[in-house]
Amino acid sequence: MLDDWFDLVLGSRCLVCGTAGRLLCRDCVRVLPRTGYPVRPDPCPAGLAPSFAAAPYRDPVRALVLAHKEHRAFALTRPLGGMLAGVLAVATGPRAGPGSGPGSGPGSGPVLLVPVPSSPGVVRRRGHDPVLRMTRAAARELGSTGGEVRVARLLRQRDRIADQAGLDAAGRAANLAGRLAVNGGLSRLARPGVAVQVVLCDDVLTTGSTAREAQRALEDVGLRVSAIATLAATQRRFR
Ligand SMILES: [Zn+2]
Repeated sequence: MLDDWFDLVLGSRCLVCGTAGRLLCRDCVRVLPRTGYPVRPDPCPAGLAPSFAAAPYRDPVRALVLAHKEHRAFALTRPLGGMLAGVLAVATGPRAGPGSGPGSGPGSGPVLLVPVPSSPGVVRRRGHDPVLRMTRAAARELGSTGGEVRVARLLRQRDRIADQAGLDAAGRAANLAGRLAVNGGLSRLARPGVAVQVVLCDDVLTTGSTAREAQRALEDVGLRVSAIATLAATQRRFR
C-alpha cells in the first residue's frame, strides 16, 4: 500500500506539505531540522557511543527517508545530507559527559565518517546505497564550511543477514553478531600525531544494535568511535 502511495505521489507533489511540484518544496526544505540532539535507545546496548539524531522517526522525515531509500528519490539526497550535516556538527562538537574526550570539537582535527553498510543484496535491490549517498552529501556540506571531513567505507557485511525489521533488541543483536567486517585500507587513513574523530552514520536509530555492531567491528581493529549520527530515532524506544 505504501508503494502504491509513493508511486502516486513521487515526482508530483511535496512529500511534506502536498503542494504540487517538487518532491520537497522550497518552504519545506527550510523547515527541516538542521541540528541534532542526543538520543539513547531503551534498553541501550552496553557501551554504545554517544548517539544523535535530527528528528523522531515519524512523518514527514520518515516519508522522506523511505522515498530516498526505497524509491531512489535522489532529489532528497542533498536535503537529507544537510540534515545529517546538522547532526554531525553537534555530534563532533564539544560536550560534557561520557564519550567526550580531549581533542573533541570542531576544528580540532579531521572527521572520518563511516557509513553503516547495507547488505550487498539489499544495495542491488535498491539500486543504490542510501546511507552512503547521504553521508557523502553531508561530508560535502561540512567540507564546504571549512572542516576536514572524509567518508570512508570501512565496513562491509560478511554475509546474508535477515531483515532487521520486526526483530526485538535481543533478536537484532543475535542477528548481527560478528556480521560486520572492516575493509582494508586503514593504514592510508592514519597520520602520525593527528587525532581523527570517527563517526558512524546511519539513517534510522532503532534499538542501537546495528550501530553497536558497527562500533564493535571498528573497535576490534583499534578505531575508537566518538559518536553515532543518525537522521532519525524511533521515538517509542526513547525515554
Ligand atoms: Zn512542501
